[in-house]
This record gives sequence, structure tokens and C-alpha cells, in this order.
Amino acid sequence: RAKERGKSNFQFYTPDMNASALERLRLEYSLHKALAQDELEVWYQPKVELATGRLVGAEALIRWRHPELGLVSPARFIPIAEDSSLIVPIGEWVMKTACRQVREWRERQLFGGRVAVNVSGRQLKFAGVVELVERTLEECGLPSAALELEITESVAMDEDSGMVEVLHRLHELGVYLSIDDFGTGYSSLSYLKRLPVQGLKIDQSFVADLHQNRDDAAITQAIISIARSLGLGLVAEGVELDEQRRYLVEQGCDTGQGYLFSRPLPAAEFEALLERQYLAWD
Ligand code: C2E
Ligand code: MG
Ligand code: MG
Ligand code: MG
Repeated sequence: RAKERGKSNFQFYTPDMNASALERLRLEYSLHKALAQDELEVWYQPKVELATGRLVGAEALIRWRHPELGLVSPARFIPIAEDSSLIVPIGEWVMKTACRQVREWRERQLFGGRVAVNVSGRQLKFAGVVELVERTLEECGLPSAALELEITESVAMDEDSGMVEVLHRLHELGVYLSIDDFGTGYSSLSYLKRLPVQGLKIDQSFVADLHQNRDDAAITQAIISIARSLGLGLVAEGVELDEQRRYLVEQGCDTGQGYLFSRPLPAAEFEALLERQYLAWD
């Protein structure tokens, strides 16, 4: 912005900009301590079979219990973590915590599905990420097929980064790879040919109105048919209404997650849900 004003280098900060820049700095500073001070938590949201409500998997979602601010949304602090490369240790911690937890649930025969962990581009570019995943699985005694990594579409489309090779090596390890927020970032679908991806997650922005908006319904149908033709697994995100659930089942999307079934839950509450197994949605 300052450049647009020409040669003079004066920058005019509004009190607003000051406040948000300052807040960001404060968050970054306290995020540095969050890991060491045990302020981070992993919550779990069920993935369910849409026709029956049967729980088939889980997505691990990070939460930050800030001493003064309370629960801070990952939408607020993950971008800060990504910019400051704190995402690498934080991401490692999430993966370890989720793998350990799921190993325990598997041993107690409470859970037989996969646990999905979100991975950002910065983490995939970090040297040694494949070894980290391998080591984590070994240490936690979890078979690689029980781990899913969700990668957002914009990251998957990043061609010139060695990312493709990393994804192939993760695939060879036996980890399940899926594209998160599918449909929000693409300009070309050709990356689906290049990458060893097994699943797509329909972005919640399409699911939100699919029962009442023709365009969203059409996009959702197109994604379902892409997944089917390419033999990819499919999960619909953000299913909140029974109408959406029914529409998705009719169109051939078998799996979903969303508030209709359950919000993300702290581990203990998710465990209670595992003990009940079937989720009622109405
Ligand atoms: P995402 O991976 O696309 O996760 C789905 C988000 O949608 C989650 O938000 C979830 O709580 C929310 N959600 C689930 N069902 C519904 C629903 O029915 N309606 C609505 N409106 N929302 C629903 P959350 O937990 O706030 O996470 C936001 C984003 O932060 C995630 O989007 C993901 O991109 C990122 N994130 C979360 N945890 C991690 C992590 O451990 N590592 C990284 N790199 N990113 C993470
Ligand atoms: Mg996700
Ligand atoms: Mg998503
Ligand atoms: Mg998202």
C-alpha cells in the first residue's frame, strides 16, 4: 500500500491495523510457549456413513486453550504458525498425539477406522517429513493404513516444490492421502493424475447450500462423479442438515462429517461416543 503512494515513504497506520498487527504478534509470542505449557489439545470429529450414521473414522483438529483468551480457533492461529514455521513442531505434536490416542482406542477395540490429521504445505516442505511420519507410526505402534493426511487443494497444486515426491513417498509408506476443501482452489484437475491421492473432501462451502442452491448442487454432483470415475474415496464436510445428508446419499456420497452428527469433541467425549458407536442424526 505504501508503495502505491509514490516516492514518499510515509506509511499511515490506522489504529485498527495497529491493533491487528499487535494481536498477531502477541499470538505468535504466546504460541511459542503454548506447546511447552500444555495449552494445545487435539479434538476429534467423527466421519460417518451417511446412510446409517455409523462412525467410520475421525479427523483430528487442534485446539488452543489460551490462558486469557480461552479457546482460540485454528483458523486464527494456524496461519500464524505457518508463517513463523512453528507449524512444524506443532504439526508433529498433533500427529503424535492423534496416533498415540488412536492406538489406545484400537487396542481397546473402540475404534477401527483411520484418523485424519491436517497437514499444511510448510510441513510437507520440511526436510525429513517422511521420516517423521514413519518414526511417529513406529513409536506409536500404529499401522500406516490407520493414518490419513489431509492436504488442502492449494497445497496439492503446488508443483515446483518436491511436494510430489514427498507425497509419493508417504503413499509408499501406506499412509492414506486426501485432498481437503476440494473444489475451492482448482484451476486444473490434472494434479489428481500426478498425485497418489486416495480421497477427496467436498468443501463445506458447497455442502452448506446444496439443498437449496442449484449451482452448489451441480458442483457437488460433479465432485461426486469425479471421485467415482477416478476411484477415489469421498467425504462431504460440514453436513448440518438432514436434507443435505439425504441429498448426498441420493447422489452417491457415502461418507460425511458435520454438526448434524457431532461437533469436534475433546478426546474423553469422543471416547464416550465410541462407546455408543452409532450416531443418531435426528
Ligand atoms: P478443515 O480441515 O477443513 O476442518 C474442518 C473445519 O470445519 C473444522 O474447523 C471443523 O470444526 C469445522 N466443521 C466441522 N463440521 C462442521 C459443520 O457441520 N459446520 C461448520 N460450519 N463447520 C464444521 P476448525 O476445527 O476450526 O479448523 C479449521 C481449519 O484449521 C481446518 O479446516 C484446518 O484447515 C485447520 N486445522 C485444524 N487443525 C489443524 C492442524 O492440526 N494442523 C493444521 N495444519 N491445520 C489444522
Ligand atoms: Mg481437514
Ligand atoms: Mg476442509
Ligand atoms: Mg478448511
